Amino acid sequence: MRRPLIAGNWKMNKTVTESIEFAKGFIEAVKDVTDRDIMIAPPFTSIYPMAEVLKGSNVYLGAQNMYFEEKGAFTGEVSPIMLKDAGCKFVILGHSERRYIFGETDELINKKVLSAVSHELIPVLCVGELLEERELGKTFEVVERQLSEGLKGVPESAEFVIAYEPVWAIGTGKTATPQLAEEIHSFLREKLTELYGKSKADSVRILYGGSVKPENVEGLMAMKNIDGALVGGASLKVDSFEKIVKFG
Ligand code: PGA
Repeated sequence: MRRPLIAGNWKMNKTVTESIEFAKGFIEAVKDVTDRDIMIAPPFTSIYPMAEVLKGSNVYLGAQNMYFEEKGAFTGEVSPIMLKDAGCKFVILGHSERRYIFGETDELINKKVLSAVSHELIPVLCVGELLEERELGKTFEVVERQLSEGLKGVPESAEFVIAYEPVWAIGTGKTATPQLAEEIHSFLREKLTELYGKSKADSVRILYGGSVKPENVEGLMAMKNIDGALVGGASLKVDSFEKIVKFG
């Protein structure tokens, strides 16, 4: 009942030229895909030029971050209005690289999530534990905090996506096993049920992220509470991202 979402997070990769070249090849490769959503989050500089190429296709655009204000003296930041205008439907918020390299807190991420939904952008709120938190048995506590703080004040009527990305699995080649990921996904859905009730919780897509590849996507997607993937490294090449999109 939940429509799968396969999302690419390009991080700080690809020039405008490289992005356009990818987009042209990729649209062709996935043009017959109709039973799932596809999204790519390129760097800011590539959003508008890619939107021009992707116009009329089945590939949505997302941003990797944004600021919560609409405009003003915030040097170096990009607003939700700008993202919408440039062609974005989604925005990834609270990615672990934002949390741990750039010091983003749950409070800041929550402001961004609220701003995204009020501007009709669909936030993809990322949660996930560090290796040391897992080893200390704190995984559930950490993801519960990131989820409830991130969604504070977000109304039931808002569309949002959650991504579970264990930090130790990102870019390391170490994927969580499908069973281990499912354990957290079903826990997150329980927490969403407490926050919003069952029918909303059942409608929210929870993506898995962390070293998703063509070789492991099937096992992950077979899990009941895994509704899609947030793909970093393997989304940078048309053939590997195409294979992931076409799982099943
Ligand atoms: P990865 O990155 O697929 O390269 O592990 C995932 C992510 O950080 O979203």
